[in-house]
Amino acid sequence: MDHVLGLRCTICGAEYAIGDVEYVCPKHGDDGILDVIYDYDRIAAQLSPGQLAGDANRSMWRYLSLLPVDAEQARRLADGAVLGSVGWTPLYPAPRLAAELGLTHLWIKDDSRQPTASFKDRASAIAVVKTRELGYEIVTTASTGNAAAALAGLCAAVAQPNVIFVPRTAPQAKVAQLLAYGATVLLVDGSYDDAFELCLEAAPAFGWYNRNTAYNPYMSEGKKTAAYEVCEQLKWQAPDVIVVPVGDGCIIGGIHKGLRDLAALGWIERMPRIIGVQAAGSSPLVDAWERGIEGWEMAPVEAHSVADSIVAGLPRDRIKALRAVRETGGVYLRVSDDAILAAIPALAQGCGVFAEPAAAAAYAGLVEAAAQGLVQPDEHIVVLATGSGLKDVASAMKAVQASPPVVAPTLDAVRQALTVQSS
Ligand SMILES: *Cc1c(COP(=O)(O)O)cnc(C)c1O
Ligand SMILES: [Zn+2]
Repeated sequence: MDHVLGLRCTICGAEYAIGDVEYVCPKHGDDGILDVIYDYDRIAAQLSPGQLAGDANRSMWRYLSLLPVDAEQARRLADGAVLGSVGWTPLYPAPRLAAELGLTHLWIKDDSRQPTASFKDRASAIAVVKTRELGYEIVTTASTGNAAAALAGLCAAVAQPNVIFVPRTAPQAKVAQLLAYGATVLLVDGSYDDAFELCLEAAPAFGWYNRNTAYNPYMSEGKKTAAYEVCEQLKWQAPDVIVVPVGDGCIIGGIHKGLRDLAALGWIERMPRIIGVQAAGSSPLVDAWERGIEGWEMAPVEAHSVADSIVAGLPRDRIKALRAVRETGGVYLRVSDDAILAAIPALAQGCGVFAEPAAAAAYAGLVEAAAQGLVQPDEHIVVLATGSGLKDVASAMKAVQASPPVVAPTLDAVRQALTVQSS
């Protein structure tokens, strides 16, 4: 890993060599989240947009020279396996949705198309490679559901034992995924924040590798690949705005990191504004942004929302999450659960992407941003669709509220039902 220079603390800026610290800056305990720093000159000498254009690899691993993993290990694990198909998700133009919002250039980045149906595959893919690279026998994570499903699924692909902590309230589809993938699942009688703390304690006690969001500095490095893809898919013309749903803040921090990498390499000329969207019932980052306080000053709050994947009372990647919006001139917005649910059919009907509530929240955020004049009609805007609607069918049913007519199996009944429907 000659291209990785080390790890830098997001609080005090102290730098560490890889191997000197494993997860966080020792001076700040669990808050001392680390950034991975790269030797961009060395990377630029190995990789260029032109080379990428000729690369047949359609996955996040096309950016291996920009990832903090042992390349040989990653290639071996990814070769032909599910792990090898993470990333390079479609970026769909959405002209009808754009028109509805008075916009002209809108794209939806569809990460519901990942192997386990959420954006979390990008981070878990890195976790699986790191587990092997560092010689751990077991990897663990706490999760609201998707990070767990991602880890369990990608582990199953390479027969990697794993232990998963999820709140017992996690949606059934996500728990079903975990069990089907054969993970050792522990349903924590408490919130996601409780599950996180428990996992933090368990990992060193049992000698497991810890994938926990933010705590493990490599998770944002997997998530940053979505920013690379968006820019490459747009022919290296960075968009003006990227809209991101935010819970722990790892995705938004990762998107920012990806964009900063590309700017440092000189592959993009402008830095998009990043808009972070939180559910109104779980919006500590919006509060912190409005009050101008720093991530390390935030205290845990009670958090609730229909969008379970973005419920986090103490966002674990809060430092990177605030930095992403502040340094790009973006904003943080909150959207109600009603607006989130309404965004599910809006997105599905407007461009054919069926999103879970947390993912629909990003689109609800764009609706809000357009209404407030925070985006301009001619701007190029990308919305991340981070997870599949099939992850939480109960919420989708609430959103559509329809009870379709039951018909007898005759044409007459069909005719009559259609007359009633259209009248
Ligand atoms: C995890 C998740 C998010 C939020 O990501 P954070 O890194 O926690 O901010 C958004 N949408 C979906 C579907 C997720 O699973
Ligand atoms: Zn520090």
